[in-house]
Amino acid sequence: MGSFFIEFRDPLFSIILLLAIIFTISFFSYWWGRYRAKDNYKFLDRFLEQFDTLPNQENLGELIRSSNLSSKSWLLLADSYTKTGDYEKAIEIYTELLRADEGMENAKEVMFLLGKTYFKAGFLGRSKKVFLEILEKSPRMPQVLHYLLLVYEHTRDYNAALEVLEPLDELQEDITKERHYLRVLALLNATDIDEELKKREIVFFYREHKTLERMVFGYLFRIDPKTAWRELDVEKAPKIADILWNLDKEELDYDIISKSGFLQELYSAKGYIQQVTSSDIFELDILVKLPREAQVTVGFEYLCKNCKVVFPFGFDRCNACHQIDTVELEYNLQKDYKKGMGEEGDSFL
Ligand SMILES: [Zn+2]
Repeated sequence: MGSFFIEFRDPLFSIILLLAIIFTISFFSYWWGRYRAKDNYKFLDRFLEQFDTLPNQENLGELIRSSNLSSKSWLLLADSYTKTGDYEKAIEIYTELLRADEGMENAKEVMFLLGKTYFKAGFLGRSKKVFLEILEKSPRMPQVLHYLLLVYEHTRDYNAALEVLEPLDELQEDITKERHYLRVLALLNATDIDEELKKREIVFFYREHKTLERMVFGYLFRIDPKTAWRELDVEKAPKIADILWNLDKEELDYDIISKSGFLQELYSAKGYIQQVTSSDIFELDILVKLPREAQVTVGFEYLCKNCKVVFPFGFDRCNACHQIDTVELEYNLQKDYKKGMGEEGDSFL
């Protein structure tokens, strides 16, 4: 007995005892945590099972009317369906919510969500109908007007889109960019005027407003590089570096290139000229310094300055946030397959 107490007082024994207690507590808390998590998962599974296959519209309406879920919860569920691209289920929920409670307090907001989901799903006619219905009762909703404008733009009804700008203007919304954009878009898509007149109108537009370089010069360099070079403000050249990069050698204007450090770097990197030995842009600098036969080139990605989404293709209006002229070019080095295929396009340089 006495020896037991001696051992109990032994510091080594105390440490072992303490460790044993810690181990026991940790084990039970781990086991309890696992048990709770499992239980939670089961609850979530049971909850989500109800929505894996939504009941048909009739039953869904009944479910919405009879369930304890608030309309806010149903809206959250519809929103999560929209985020995963399951627009059909989101549309069903919005429609049935509106049907179930005709006098609902936030009916306009739910209708707007329904219109937006129709728009995202590509049902432009239906979304237009919903937006017009909201505006009939509440014409002072700028967010609805903006979406109505997008519908008209997608259906190429530019006159109708321009008309939407008037109420937006009255609501003190800044519509300058939208007006310019729609004007250029309408011109570029016009089929009833000849190319020469179209070109002249676009040039007049740019001289007057000095904006939307990607739209203006994307078009001008495609149809008349000479005019494009004449009208280009070289300080804006970095905004359209991808368009300039893809020009053929015989389309270049060497007088203008010689006046711009950026253009000299760009075309030295491309291998069309040999005017510089370095560049502040990392990717161009690498290309300038690499031997000509290296199978490396520059590619571009398109970052929206507003929402920070990166796209593989250029855009005039961001597909994610719908802002206009927000492209920021990102350079990246790529393998040059043309050189790999033994093209001798510019080997005489
Ligand atoms: Zn964006």
